[in-house]
Amino acid sequence: MRNFNYYQPTRIRFGWSRVNEIGKVVARIGKRCLMVSVKPFPAMESLFEKVKNLCTDAGIEIIHYDEVIPNPTTTCVNIGSEIAANKEVDVILGVGGGSSIDTAKAIAVGATHKGDVWDYRLEQKRIESNRVLPIIAVPTTAGTGSEVTNMAVIKNPDEKFKSALADRTLNPTVSIIDPELTLTVPPYITASTGFDAFCHSFETLINKNASDFIDLYALDSIKKVIKYLPIAIKEGSNREAREALSFAATLGGLSITNIGTILPHGISMAIGGHVPNIMHGESLAIMYPEINRWTWKYAVSKYAIIARLFNPNLKKESDEAAAEKACDEIDLFLKKIGLWLSLEDKNVPKSELKAIADDSLKLRNYSLHPKVPSLEEVNNLINNSYKRKD
Ligand code: NAD
Repeated sequence: MRNFNYYQPTRIRFGWSRVNEIGKVVARIGKRCLMVSVKPFPAMESLFEKVKNLCTDAGIEIIHYDEVIPNPTTTCVNIGSEIAANKEVDVILGVGGGSSIDTAKAIAVGATHKGDVWDYRLEQKRIESNRVLPIIAVPTTAGTGSEVTNMAVIKNPDEKFKSALADRTLNPTVSIIDPELTLTVPPYITASTGFDAFCHSFETLINKNASDFIDLYALDSIKKVIKYLPIAIKEGSNREAREALSFAATLGGLSITNIGTILPHGISMAIGGHVPNIMHGESLAIMYPEINRWTWKYAVSKYAIIARLFNPNLKKESDEAAAEKACDEIDLFLKKIGLWLSLEDKNVPKSELKAIADDSLKLRNYSLHPKVPSLEEVNNLINNSYKRKD
């Protein structure tokens, strides 16, 4: 076996209706809490009220910052950080999808560090771990796994760049993962977030740093997404499917926080920087077909495993033949879940492709891809993803 490290400090409370424990959980950590979310809308309004009431009943003073936007920006984080600092809150609670949880995490840094939160992104100023406020996460999507990762993804619109804050203290202190909260996620967002979970597990599995330990998480997570994502998209109220997807997303988060993501995430982050209103899962779905065809021969045994999870009949074929067919299987899955997309479909201007390619290599995700790409290769992958052939 290869050596491996494993780290996971988040206390996980997983299960139906466990959001009811939020008051008790917050009260154990602080007295004055900033709750971070998107603006209330019908699917979430009653949840936000419930969380606030449970916290108030537990003796917590709660301040609600509800200015989160999908793919949160530095501005959104900086405003929240100022509120958190001025109100002297002692705990930050993120309630929502990855965007809300990441904003909460970034505020936990911004409220306690000088200057713009963007200064503390990867490879810039060091986050002072002992100053970061404790974070509690209550995810309402099943995708990012942010509830158990050490990262907060934020976007600087002026630089058209998405990066992340990363520190062990950005692992939430406690996460309540209640599948019930995902029952209202609409089909397309279910698909996009569920595919993100798939990608996390897939990218740790074929990662150059893959470990036997994390492979266990990743494989189970992939199996669950393959089986249950199409069901949850068709039948949002299917509790078995929602539960399995919440678990799959958490396993994916545990996987990336220990192993990391690779090229598809690097390019997807760059797309997210340049393209407004694109969901993270959509940009991954756009890039997977081309990246798979370029990658499979450098990770044959892992691609063969994936192919056979999609299609057990491929057990009869050689690893090489099965691995190549994994590309078709993943294409079919993308079609099945309604994410057979191109950059053109998302109105990405052709003039932006070169800049996206340049930015794809700014973060280090690509260096652990089974084959490290050159800029020219990344450029080709992006250009070939501009239009989708059927
Ligand atoms: P999101 O948080 O942006 O939410 C997408 C949409 O779904 C929003 O409009 C939101 O209001 C809505 N929504 C959320 N929960 C809902 C519910 N229960 N019912 C109805 N609507 C609901 O989407 P996401 O995919 O969860 O998060 C994406 C962000 O997370 C991106 O910025 C991405 O880069 C980041 N991310 C972070 C990590 C990490 O480790 N920190 C990992 C992967 C991705």
